[in-house]
Amino acid sequence: MVTCSNDVWLLLEAEEGGLGAFADGLICEGRRLADALRGELAAVLLGPDTGELEEALAECGADRLYRGRDAGLADYHPEIYASLLGELVREHRPRLFLTLDSARGADLMPRLAATIGAPLVMNCTNIEAGEEIEFTKPVQSGRLHAVMTAPAGGTSLATLNAEYLPEAATAAPSQIARVCDIEADVSAIATRLDITSYLKADPKTVDIREAEIVVAVGNGIGARENFAAFERFAELIGAALGGSRPVIDSGILPHERQIGQTGRAISARLAILCGISGSEYFTKGIERAGTKVAINSDREAPIFKDIDLGIHADINALIPKLTAHIKRGTEGGGR
Ligand SMILES: Cc1cc2nc3c(=O)[nH]c(=O)nc-3n(C[C@H](O)[C@H](O)[C@H](O)COP(=O)(O)OP(=O)(O)OC[C@H]3O[C@@H](n4cnc5c(N)ncnc54)[C@H](O)[C@@H]3O)c2cc1C
Repeated sequence: MVTCSNDVWLLLEAEEGGLGAFADGLICEGRRLADALRGELAAVLLGPDTGELEEALAECGADRLYRGRDAGLADYHPEIYASLLGELVREHRPRLFLTLDSARGADLMPRLAATIGAPLVMNCTNIEAGEEIEFTKPVQSGRLHAVMTAPAGGTSLATLNAEYLPEAATAAPSQIARVCDIEADVSAIATRLDITSYLKADPKTVDIREAEIVVAVGNGIGARENFAAFERFAELIGAALGGSRPVIDSGILPHERQIGQTGRAISARLAILCGISGSEYFTKGIERAGTKVAINSDREAPIFKDIDLGIHADINALIPKLTAHIKRGTEGGGR
């Protein structure tokens, strides 16, 4: 068996305007694991022009920054990413290669694991590094956590559940990362798929982890028939719909729309929380959201703690009225 280093590598996602809401937490977690393994922490950033982000990243606390700058990396292509990263991992053999359990992470990592023949654990809530690497992930809708270990001596891959990442880097970085260029001819990577165009996603189908605006619906909607009003409202304001667990359990929304500890964490600019009591299992999933607005008929509902705007109202009366009001406004009636 070819042994690997003790290094921890992170794949970061470059987004418009930055590295995304969870990059700090991922770097912080990577640092903890690299220190436990007495290895180095390396961050990988791919894109056509990563210049601005590199400056921020050089001081993020990583020891090395691998940058792949190529026009062919302007858009995420699963085969190109898997091939490029597969070569890198084969060459450098980090002990751990990690990324977020985001839509991209979920698409890429199984391909990468298959490309290099490495073990992969998705949606980890914790990783402990010692002689062995121990991964913990929820199973059976969060009722159980499975703990698994990967064989020693090889690279292991994992995606990390954003809700369990630390808030931000705890210590000021003591060094500036060494920047290393990834030498690769992206145009020479053979692909079987061509991406021909991008269609703007329907907010109804957009992954709630990536959505800019989220309308989250809770048990307070009461009868199932009331849900149509929330669909109309979400459509009108260009929001993705999510829900608390009872709404998912009752089959109104599919499981991938559940927000919370055993669902997904959202980082939306605006989250409108309708008829949700504010259980900690739920609020775990909205910690990184921007402006939070809660509507609840109970003034004492715990959801009203730690939000930006609280509205004491019956959602089944307010949401249809609000929808009609916005419609009138956008149609020029504006009353
Ligand atoms: C291991 C485990 C994991 C869990 N994971 C999750 C998870 O990931 N996500 C999650 O959401 N839950 C999770 N739960 C469940 C969680 O504990 C709560 O039971 C759940 O979040 C409650 O959902 P809710 O707020 O929609 O419903 P409820 O607690 O029933 O609250 C409904 C709210 O609606 C309000 N309301 C009622 N009628 C109206 C109206 N007409 N207008 C306005 N407001 C109204 C009420 O005042 C109330 O505050 C988990 C539980 C366990 C044990």
